Amino acid sequence: KIEGAVLMAKRGMLIVLSGPSGVGKGTVRKALFEDPEVDFNYSISMTTRNPREGEKNGVDYYFVSKEQFEENIKNGEMLEYAKYVDNYYGTPLNYVNEQLNAGHDVFLEVEVNGALQVRANCPDGVFIFLTPPDIKELRSRLVGRGTDDLEVINKRIQKASKEIRMMQNYDYAIVNDKIKNAVEQIKDIVKSERLKVNRV
Ligand code: 5GP
Repeated sequence: KIEGAVLMAKRGMLIVLSGPSGVGKGTVRKALFEDPEVDFNYSISMTTRNPREGEKNGVDYYFVSKEQFEENIKNGEMLEYAKYVDNYYGTPLNYVNEQLNAGHDVFLEVEVNGALQVRANCPDGVFIFLTPPDIKELRSRLVGRGTDDLEVINKRIQKASKEIRMMQNYDYAIVNDKIKNAVEQIKDIVKSERLKVNRV
């Protein structure tokens, strides 16, 4: 009984998926949350970039103005944020805190600077790096997606080469060859982490 109570009082686990843009983090994340077995919560990010076709406010992102975002930073309302290709992206602190305190696990999908900030603030989180099979593949995916012009793609590729070297800051690395495999591997990681004896 007492053991049960202690388990109930446990804070939730923070799971962070990161890796270069275009590696398929968004696609893997969507597939993950379509999986009926997945029982952790996705933290919806805030951004100042414009919605792409089909994206919905409050579902894909909270789309806000630069002024609003900077106000939130000033008020300490972001767990982390980064300027990425001229736009802000960040994680609202409130939702994450609420969920973790209620004992629910929370999943973030962020670029690498954001992941480093989260690591500094929440060292007990689980940090997963998604890597492309190779950099050529990354370029063709970005071009194939057709949502960004060449200048933006080149900026993203440059950034990605640096990012891949950041893998050593993570607990796990997954190669995104097949979405289904990546999803299964993330689920396996979460399952094992939950069984850890000394997880804070
Ligand atoms: P996109 O514009 O393609 O949706 O996202 C660009 C990059 O921003 C991706 O690498 C994505 O993972 C990252 N990103 C999305 N949300 C957040 C966030 O809340 N914080 C940070 N630091 N990066 C984010």
